[in-house]
Amino acid sequence: MLPPFLDTPVEFLKGVGPQRGEVLNKELAVFTFMDMLSLFPYRYIDRSKFHKISDVNPDSGYVQIRGGITNISFSGNKRIFRMNASLRDGTGSLDLVWFNGFKWLKDKFKPGEVYIVFGKVSLYNGSLTISHPEIEVFSEQSTGVGSALQPLYPSSEKLKAKGLDGKGIWKLQKTLIALSQGKIYETFSTKILQSTRLMSREQAFCNIHVPQSAEMLQNAQNRLKFEELFFMQLKIFKEKQFREKRNSAIRFEVVGENFNNFFHHYLPFPLTNAQKRVVKEVRHDTGTGRQMNRLLQGDVGSGKTMVALMSMLIAIDNGFQACIMAPTEILANQHYNSIQRFLEKMEIESALLTGSVKGKQRKLILEGILSGSIKILIGTHALIEDAVIFKNLGLAVIDEQHRFGVMQRARLWEKNDHPPHILVMTATPIPRTLAMTLYGDLDVSVLDEMPPGRKPVKTVHYRETHRNVVFGFMKQQIQLGRQIYVVYPLINESETLDLKDLMEGYDSIVREFPLPKFAISIVHGQMKPAEKEYEMQRFVKGETNIMVATTVIEVGVDVPNASVMIIENAERFGLSQLHQLRGRVGRGADQSFCILMSSNKITAYARQRLATMVETTDGFKIAEADLRLRGPGDIEGTQQSGILDLKLADIVRDEKILLFARKMAEEIIAADPELSSDENHRLSLRLREIHTAKINLGKVG
Ligand code: ADP
Ligand code: MG
Repeated sequence: MLPPFLDTPVEFLKGVGPQRGEVLNKELAVFTFMDMLSLFPYRYIDRSKFHKISDVNPDSGYVQIRGGITNISFSGNKRIFRMNASLRDGTGSLDLVWFNGFKWLKDKFKPGEVYIVFGKVSLYNGSLTISHPEIEVFSEQSTGVGSALQPLYPSSEKLKAKGLDGKGIWKLQKTLIALSQGKIYETFSTKILQSTRLMSREQAFCNIHVPQSAEMLQNAQNRLKFEELFFMQLKIFKEKQFREKRNSAIRFEVVGENFNNFFHHYLPFPLTNAQKRVVKEVRHDTGTGRQMNRLLQGDVGSGKTMVALMSMLIAIDNGFQACIMAPTEILANQHYNSIQRFLEKMEIESALLTGSVKGKQRKLILEGILSGSIKILIGTHALIEDAVIFKNLGLAVIDEQHRFGVMQRARLWEKNDHPPHILVMTATPIPRTLAMTLYGDLDVSVLDEMPPGRKPVKTVHYRETHRNVVFGFMKQQIQLGRQIYVVYPLINESETLDLKDLMEGYDSIVREFPLPKFAISIVHGQMKPAEKEYEMQRFVKGETNIMVATTVIEVGVDVPNASVMIIENAERFGLSQLHQLRGRVGRGADQSFCILMSSNKITAYARQRLATMVETTDGFKIAEADLRLRGPGDIEGTQQSGILDLKLADIVRDEKILLFARKMAEEIIAADPELSSDENHRLSLRLREIHTAKINLGKVG
């Protein structure tokens, strides 16, 4: 039997085929026609407008220029080979550059021909540059077809190599939209459509990909944002209802031997008052017979891990297992190591399960979890795989919540007949009302006190011209025995470019800090987990002085002797991310420093953000400033790394839609708790569909 149209594997779409299909699967998690349609543009450009080169500046973003292409040349080394060219339009010139993979382009440009060049402007080696631009020969027909709004889609090097750059993807979308007429079913009742005056779902998908006009596009976006937020809220209310109906939650009756033994004999430091308070809150919640569902907010370094550990000991005292799920392998490792250290003198079996635990070891762990001999399981999202079956999970701790979606959380707690207690830990301060809107009826605890003896991190902003001052400072600190992080942003947009920045930075650091006097670690996203771990451990053990990394170290890593954090291209990071990174230092007794490096020329907006970082170390203040300052499309082409798996809606920008959707969902559930009326039939179908949708692990982190 053929699958329903929208479930057709994407490879069967005209213009895709098995090879492109595979890259779409792997790179964008697009498996079916529906996945393809749900791959939304992150931006639209008005293609009827051309920029003058004389008006272009480093902040222009995406531009379209009409001009001639000359001065083609080649440079670089074996690892990174590049092709350069100049683009001139009579008002000025700018550079075009390609890294690797440009063979097919080499002989394409003819003198005297006029081209349309489209791409994002950046400042590279001090001059305006577009890397990997889209180029077509100019002709009168090449503009003005249909609406002038052209959508931009996320792409990657691997997709581009298969001809699926933004434009290639758009072409597929147009084919698919044409085929989908009459096949995109409605998810709202006629009544809802009428009362909200929303556009139909089919019309919305059409206009998202092929906008008929700016106004239609706006309506389409509103419709799809509303839908996204509405079903999220509907799900929250359903879950709440479900939870309230269960009176069979696990009850931790006692605080027993393990907890007391640890507390009296093995606690490595006195708890802060805030930690004591939160442990009490957890004890209270888990003893009531209702499922605990608690959000623990605490700034980086406030000691959330200890709270998690003590909560887990209570679970074990009551005969249950506990787990911690972390967003990255490195962080899971770190948790595992610190928990092993804390529990060194006690007989509690714990295990680490991540994607790289395989074969026999994995089998042993799975058995231990099933038999109950393993009491504490620490891991990544590998924990929610079907193969992981607990004997009796009593408490699930989820670290750095914003990295996981709502669905992943639900998966964890569906693992049992009795839902385990849930403790969600986050360093991202979320205003209470917002938290309630997002997570239903979560209770909130706050660790509002830092362990004693911490000195606030001193933060400064330096520009590229002062790099030598920074090198000098680094040498001083290394002489004092300290370790240093140097972090580069990861911009997804072009893996090659990111890696290039990182490798160039690494090379210049190696030149400045040569062996054998200095040792340097490097960690980036394209290394194998084992390699990453090895490099990371060298730094953790103090064998290297400097750790050069991309943002993989962002979350949770704990090296108390590291006292300097240097953030390269700091203007390209969001505030919250800068704050997280800065939190990696200031963990030991020494004065720590954070150096924000930026290019010489930055925008007023970037300057303001960096000034905020220099002024305050208060996570709440920074989060507020971030919400206030965050413009749409902060980092082009990447999904908002916000709090939820939302594709289109933004809980801050679209707060009005969110509140409206929430109210409507609440009313509907109140009137028809089971969604069993004819009118709500479509809603319940859609809800089930969302529920059973494959969890796309590729999107985590
Ligand atoms: P986060 O809240 O960012 O996850 P961690 O749990 O990693 O913070 O704790 C940061 C560091 O502070 C760790 O080295 C931890 O051992 C230490 N720490 C935690 N609680 C205390 C305390 N009460 N006194 C002293 N050090 C503490
Ligand atoms: Mg942590």
